[in-house]
Amino acid sequence: IHGLMMQQPLLISSLLRHAERHHGEGEIVSRRVEGDIHRYTYRDLAARARRMAKAMAALGIGDGDRVGTLAWNGYRHMELYYAVSGMGAVLHTLNPRLHPDQLAWIVDNAQDQVLCFDLTFLPLVEAVAGRLGSVRHFVLMSDRAHMPDETRIPGLLCYEDLCIAQDDGYEWPEFDENRASSLCYTSGTTGNPKGVLYSHRSTVLHTMAGALPDVLCMSAREAVLPVVPMFHVNAWGIPYMACMVGAKLVFPGPALDGKSLYDLFEAEAVTLAAGVPTVWQALLAHVESNGLRFSTLCRTIIGGAACPPSMIDAFQSRHGVEVLHAWGMTELSPIGTACSLKPELAALGSEQRLAVQAKQGRALFGVDMKIVDADGDELAWDGKAAGELMVRGHWVVAQYQSGADPCVDGWFPTGDVSTIDAHGYMQITDRAKDVIKSGGEWIGSIDLENIAMAHPKVAMAACIGVPHPKWDERPLLVVVPRPGETLGREELLRHFDGKVARWWIPDDVVFVDAIPLGATGKMQKNRLREQFRKHLIP
Ligand code: ADP
Repeated sequence: IHGLMMQQPLLISSLLRHAERHHGEGEIVSRRVEGDIHRYTYRDLAARARRMAKAMAALGIGDGDRVGTLAWNGYRHMELYYAVSGMGAVLHTLNPRLHPDQLAWIVDNAQDQVLCFDLTFLPLVEAVAGRLGSVRHFVLMSDRAHMPDETRIPGLLCYEDLCIAQDDGYEWPEFDENRASSLCYTSGTTGNPKGVLYSHRSTVLHTMAGALPDVLCMSAREAVLPVVPMFHVNAWGIPYMACMVGAKLVFPGPALDGKSLYDLFEAEAVTLAAGVPTVWQALLAHVESNGLRFSTLCRTIIGGAACPPSMIDAFQSRHGVEVLHAWGMTELSPIGTACSLKPELAALGSEQRLAVQAKQGRALFGVDMKIVDADGDELAWDGKAAGELMVRGHWVVAQYQSGADPCVDGWFPTGDVSTIDAHGYMQITDRAKDVIKSGGEWIGSIDLENIAMAHPKVAMAACIGVPHPKWDERPLLVVVPRPGETLGREELLRHFDGKVARWWIPDDVVFVDAIPLGATGKMQKNRLREQFRKHLIP
């Protein structure tokens, strides 16, 4: 016997419809590429998204067609999030920091038919337009006044012209909730980018679970600033969650330096922000070197790469900003775990609490996880046994868009190596490809980086395995000292004494001006490994 309740498909358009009806006055503030601050409401967003859905239909976009975006976090990008998915087409967010060759490859692989882009990326699009054979229309996401007088892009269209040409009389269509809604390619830190095709159902379920109190704890009382880009795994789902709960949204546009972010936090009374550790480092440096205080910021969500405990401590004890460490990946829409404290852990002393917060946290409802050894056998949840993390759930990839099926017995192998403790807290010790294999044993690079980062004279640290004549590989520490500080090799290596097993201590330290970062702000350890390949070979 079936239950007798209403059945409604879980559609992305329902989030926007809810926002318009139930918190239409909620504010969306954007720092624009054009330089000024733009503000409007969820009601305006909904009306303009309907116009853009009509505009896309007028350009010939239909069910399942792909619309690419190359854009910062801003209101026009948000309009496309809803217009394109809502009408039944597929929104393909592209990462503008990729190499132009890779970008052209991805656009072709996805068969994008329309490409919408911010003013910033006009030169980039001009350079690659000739190679984008699938793209029938190019749309500059600005107004008439900012259109270039001359351009090599054939028939370049103006976003505001398209929007104004339509009225907002449009009904969001109803269709199967399993239809594709959006497409995101993995950033390719560990290989060729792979397309992950989300559905309306997976997105709405991710939105509902991700907004829960023990995860992002989103509500109408928050003013949220996603620093994490909308071109990288849907800004961790924040553009959807904000519509669902009616949070004020603050978009930083292209200005992601410490000063610009801090000024926007203060001007817009931001309470919650989200981003990768490297972004927060620049923000903390700005705040601390200018003796500033956060007057409204209460919480920050840090993920995408391991957050060093020294950063968690700086936010919490020096600035009164609570840190939520979270883990996810493109293949998980992206949220997999969040490190909110169970009551028995919240009562711990500050040092032990910090040790828990350095973990990536526990699975949210909708995601199941386990760790396995090389034979695929499940390992104990004792906080010590480390193995490959496997996940499954409502918003976990089942197949890449190429058709390749990555799963093993219904579980997705993440390529991350982790432990899980008795409380269910998962901790990433490494990416499988970054693990340092010394004399047949594994050394976790993240642990060593966290220790190095806790040294007051260290600004950034990467630990890599480099070939060694006797031990196969040994750890090498690559360090960027804090500005104005000089730091010796011995001083830094002594700092590891007593903190890890002796054989884990790096063999050497190299000091550099900068560590190469990838398109999503993560350290590119593969480049460092290449650069220092011969460092320990006599
Ligand atoms: P790519 O795999 O190309 O870097 P993703 O953005 O999907 O693209 O990255 C997901 C990966 O980022 C995870 O598999 C994991 O290695 C890493 N990651 C994400 N969050 C964390 C975190 N909090 N701590 C450690 N690593 C993390």
